Amino acid sequence: MATETLQADDIASAARRLRDRPPWESLAWAAERFAPRVAFATGFGAEGCLVIDIIARHRLRIEVFTLDTGLLFPETVGLWRRLEDRYGLEIRAVRPALTVAEQARDHGEELFYRDPDRCCSLRKTEPLWHALSGLAAWVTAIRRQQTPERKGTEVVEWDGTFGLVKVNPLAAWTHEEVWEYLRAHRVPVNPLHALGYPSIGCAPCTSPVRPGEDLRAGRWRGRVKTECGLHARGQAASTCHVRDGAEA
Ligand code: SF4
Repeated sequence: MATETLQADDIASAARRLRDRPPWESLAWAAERFAPRVAFATGFGAEGCLVIDIIARHRLRIEVFTLDTGLLFPETVGLWRRLEDRYGLEIRAVRPALTVAEQARDHGEELFYRDPDRCCSLRKTEPLWHALSGLAAWVTAIRRQQTPERKGTEVVEWDGTFGLVKVNPLAAWTHEEVWEYLRAHRVPVNPLHALGYPSIGCAPCTSPVRPGEDLRAGRWRGRVKTECGLHARGQAASTCHVRDGAEA
């Protein structure tokens, strides 16, 4: 397998240079540096819709895909189609190996209630692993403010979990800045936000939040779980081998 070697210093230098720059600059850097081996993974949260707007507005060569767990809210699926229509782009569905019915057959009914980590592994982490396996870099819409685990997020960093560069153009943005942008640019968003769902994942694991609660309090309510496992803080590497595009 051919590899391209990227020194950790190169990543740190890009992170320093892009840290205080507007998001479109880190996205443009990612497209210029890695296209066609760069993609944006979105779950159609407010931040994800914003990143799609920037990618489309600047016509950046960054593929967009979503992890279609088969358990999304109908409103989320509707937003997916609206975004494709509005921006004239295809948002590719990445699906698990098992349908929801097959998972119930093999692992029992409602695995998401009994063992959400296993369910997330089957329906999100493993499909993401396959989706990223041919890429050199991926883009996410995570922000430092969202969870304690995301506090150390850099605009550009090495993802030691999945073994590729990770670009987080909204790392430093606040919730208020995100919504200001969305309103100013009339970006389509999930109608569930207006019904008390600031953070939206799969339907069985998402509930509305009450006034004063944390914005992600409705995710896996009543459990210690706060993340799907997609954004674990991977170990930094001194030399990073960017994968060849032919890798399966
Ligand atoms: Fe399963 Fe819930 Fe994770 Fe979706 S968020 S993959 S339903 S555990």
